[in-house]
Amino acid sequence: MKPVPFNKLYLTGKEKKYIAEAIDSGSVSGNGAFTKKCHDFFQKKYGLKKCFLTSSCTDALEMAALLLNIKQGDEVIMPSFTFVSTANAFVLRGAKIIFADSKTAEPNIDENEVEKLVTKKTRAIVPVHYAGVACNMDKLIAIAKRNNISIVEDAAQSVNSFYKNSKNKMLPLGGIGDLGTFSFHDTKNITSGEGGLLAVNNQQHVEKAEIIWEKGTNRAAFLRGEINNYEWIETGSSFLPSDITAAFLLAQLEELKAVQSKRKKNWDLYHQYLSPLADKGYFRLPYIPDYAVHNSTIFYIVCRNKRDRTELMTHLKKNGIQAVSHYQALHKSRYYRKQDKIILPNAEKFTDCLLRLPLFPELKKNEIELIERSIFTFFN
Ligand SMILES: *Cc1c(COP(=O)(O)O)cnc(C)c1O
Repeated sequence: MKPVPFNKLYLTGKEKKYIAEAIDSGSVSGNGAFTKKCHDFFQKKYGLKKCFLTSSCTDALEMAALLLNIKQGDEVIMPSFTFVSTANAFVLRGAKIIFADSKTAEPNIDENEVEKLVTKKTRAIVPVHYAGVACNMDKLIAIAKRNNISIVEDAAQSVNSFYKNSKNKMLPLGGIGDLGTFSFHDTKNITSGEGGLLAVNNQQHVEKAEIIWEKGTNRAAFLRGEINNYEWIETGSSFLPSDITAAFLLAQLEELKAVQSKRKKNWDLYHQYLSPLADKGYFRLPYIPDYAVHNSTIFYIVCRNKRDRTELMTHLKKNGIQAVSHYQALHKSRYYRKQDKIILPNAEKFTDCLLRLPLFPELKKNEIELIERSIFTFFN
């Protein structure tokens, strides 16, 4: 059998054409024609108030921290089972990160633990929608409102995922909190190699976001002809990508529907093929709450223990199948454990036992069958 990689870049065929158009236009710096088209795509399709392309989701998170004016001594609550950038963005501003545990059934933040962690210093909660599966946003929003704190959704993995709120309304992930951040890294559903987006959903932050995005100046207003010259008016940075990146991204966005249907087909096949083994108790399948409509970005299983996972990973590797673990819970990282020693049993369980299987649009049905058979052989 041909080796099956964990991920394979999916190209729509329009990337080179759009990049050539960007180059031929004579200007490829940020905030150009393709950037505006990408902003429009997100604003129209998902009703997001105001979008800003960034060079990565890491950048979008750093922009969010600046935008909320996070300062030395502020506290920010987030799950420990997440990517390092979720925390780093706020640490850069001097914040103390307060880690919450995952739920028992799924890696997402346990909303029932969050309120206990709120103090007078809490400025933000950062729910991470793991595998594009929504966190319980109604509960998190209620906590944020009661305590007057902001919500920044780390929707890095969640393009085209939704949350059904308590009034049965479908809301796009990344469009629910005050701010939402997306990633277009090439492991994500839609990619520009590196890339990201900040969605500003709270009108209160729109004007300042535009300034921070343009190095702390009012250059955007200048370009619109609203003022005669631009100047430094805020703490800012360079967060905007070149229009070449945006051209690549637009080519991908226009094929979102096709990408999503291929991914969903493969995710559903895994679920179907692996259910009998999960029913025998060898491992658990992803838990999808009723309120979540996910984007098939990751297919994972949760093994019974770390040893099972290590041995299964090795077994699959011998069969040419690249399956991979995911985050090392951040509260156990070398950087964090110097300041605080805490125990978060669910985050630690997902660190040790979660295994991601190959998933990409061009993965074939017979490859998924072979992966299933290889897993079957391992457990029998
Ligand atoms: C991928 C990812 C990021 C980082 O995205 P970049 O675009 O690579 O900066 C942040 N948070 C989560 C949850 C991610 O999955």
